[in-house]
Amino acid sequence: MAEWAAIEGLSIAIDGPSGSGKGTVATLLADEIGVPVLDTGLLYRLTGSAALQRGLSLDDEQAVAALVDVLLDEIVWTIDGIFLNGKNVTAELRSETVGAAASCVAAMLSVREKLLALQHKLAKEGCVMDGRDIGTVVLPDAPAKFFLTASLRERARRRWAQLKNQEDNSLESVLAELKVRDQRDAERQHAPLKQAADAICIDSTTMRADDVVDRMLGVLQRRKLITALR
Ligand code: C5P
Repeated sequence: MAEWAAIEGLSIAIDGPSGSGKGTVATLLADEIGVPVLDTGLLYRLTGSAALQRGLSLDDEQAVAALVDVLLDEIVWTIDGIFLNGKNVTAELRSETVGAAASCVAAMLSVREKLLALQHKLAKEGCVMDGRDIGTVVLPDAPAKFFLTASLRERARRRWAQLKNQEDNSLESVLAELKVRDQRDAERQHAPLKQAADAICIDSTTMRADDVVDRMLGVLQRRKLITALR
């Protein structure tokens, strides 16, 4: 139940590396202020997963870009996740194998451009959007931007706890995979993972998600972007 009223069309950008807590925090924050939440990583995960399923090379930009055209005709992306032929496939996209494939296809400019149009369309009415390039590329004019970080070990621990139910991974292997993915995301040429100049950085290593959200609400309130409902 929303505790705050947001100004009309409010968009908030939350970026950060894997395991920084942005998904959890974005959902909690969106709930508090009564706006939709959109997880942009799902679009790249869907593309990576579909490329793996069809046996495409993750270096073949032309083939992956053509695949995105097909996918965009088939999927519906909502605040509840991604629907393919009416079925919510979000849970199937959460594995680290799919995360790694997502980060390979996310380095391709033509893939990013095709997915950007859809992100702009859905963000139009206002939302909390999380990803890697929201503050820098997708919503450069957002009136509030946050960049979430946490130590590599803490992020790996969180990711490992999430994956434990799905995959047989050790903490050390999750940490190693995270490191490779972060490096690929941060060093790519197009829309790399980067803090926007006007983003507020929050290190969540020793913070609970609720405390991170409280800090964000404080910023939004001071900027008069939200008002308390009671
Ligand atoms: O956030 P999540 O782990 O689901 O993202 C999966 C991958 O998708 C990231 O590692 C990154 O390569 C890519 N991504 C991106 N830009 C976004 C969101 C995700 O490049 N806005």
